[in-house]
Amino acid sequence: MASTEAARTILSGQESLRHWQEELYRDFHRNPELSHQEERTSGVVAEQLDGLGYEVHTKVGGTGVVGVLANGDGPTVLLRADMDALPVREATGLDYASTAVATDDEGHQTDVMHACGHDVHVSTLLGAARLFAEGREAWAGTLIALFQPAEELGDGAKTMVDGGLAALIPTPDVALAQHVLVHPAGTVGTHEGPFLSMADSIRITLYGRGSHGSMPHLSIDPAVLASMVVVRLQGVVAREVQPGEFAVLTVGRIAVGAKSNIIDDHAVLELNIRTYSRPIRDQLLAAIERIARAESAASGSPKEPDFEVYNSYPLTDNDAEATARVTAAFEDFFPAGAVGDYGRQTASEDFSDVPTALGTPYTYWGVGGADPAVYAEAEASGTVSSLPANHSPMFAPVMQPTLTMGTAALVVAASAWLGRA
Ligand SMILES: [Zn+2]
Ligand SMILES: [Zn+2]
Repeated sequence: MASTEAARTILSGQESLRHWQEELYRDFHRNPELSHQEERTSGVVAEQLDGLGYEVHTKVGGTGVVGVLANGDGPTVLLRADMDALPVREATGLDYASTAVATDDEGHQTDVMHACGHDVHVSTLLGAARLFAEGREAWAGTLIALFQPAEELGDGAKTMVDGGLAALIPTPDVALAQHVLVHPAGTVGTHEGPFLSMADSIRITLYGRGSHGSMPHLSIDPAVLASMVVVRLQGVVAREVQPGEFAVLTVGRIAVGAKSNIIDDHAVLELNIRTYSRPIRDQLLAAIERIARAESAASGSPKEPDFEVYNSYPLTDNDAEATARVTAAFEDFFPAGAVGDYGRQTASEDFSDVPTALGTPYTYWGVGGADPAVYAEAEASGTVSSLPANHSPMFAPVMQPTLTMGTAALVVAASAWLGRA
């Protein structure tokens, strides 16, 4: 493949940027920032892109950054990384572990950690951006390096779209993104069609009547009402969704009362649902509402419950042709065994909001971040599921070959469009 030759030429400079990239990664890991607060990170990104000769747009939808590198006639490829970290207290014990503290949207002080590996995404995209800038003779077209805020809230991609992204960049022919996952470092996994689930969070406020704990007969106890709703919700996926259809319904938070001898007057439930299709999503939402209303009525609730849907994520539905092209490029470039199909993931992403708004096909793949020896051991003993995963305070991708592989994956995939024949 001509694109493989182009990728090989572009990646010939990879070894020389290893130190620079590892230092950047350590710096991002030590300095994580919460969603929509990625000021420092986006500053470093913009400075790097500027130094590499990109046309740089900053503050796109808050802290978003886009770099455009035009290199003659040819296709336009958009590569995307997300920049935000999570309110997690790091427990990895790494010498570059985060001790950062920040103030969240509600004004609370919280520890912050790159517990989802977005520092890997930023570092590998900067690596790819540099390699394309330094290897211009091997490709033609336009490369767009997009760094988005607030993936963890599900609205960062949208804020960039709403912030005028389309007017700042040429319309891409394809959009590409990746996520570090608990698979052996040195591997990549593509998947055609739905890859990441649609997700929604739902906040339900259930109303009762408050009373003294000693006088339950004067109350309508929202703790009992909320408990009934939680139990009843367990039947939705088990008894209402057609077997074989993918659906997850989790009650992640129950909040009621302040003290053992006070019956509160309301309870709050926070739910999370994951699906691969809109009809199933709508079925879950309808069932949740039906159950909350019916249980409220059964309790004699003085008021209908309130529902709020938030943190909604779109379906990540990988374009067949783009996925086939990237997979073929990976298989041609990487050694046998390094490329596979990671299968559908239950996690979610807002990446597709950008290509969807631009009318661009996209594909999104996984890149391994687990120590290959540790992963092999876990696989042999059937304990892969106990390895620290994304969002765990123990989540710690090995720096290499994760960064090298993640960078190469971006270069190889983009070269499938940009590589000079
Ligand atoms: Zn995450
Ligand atoms: Zn993530």
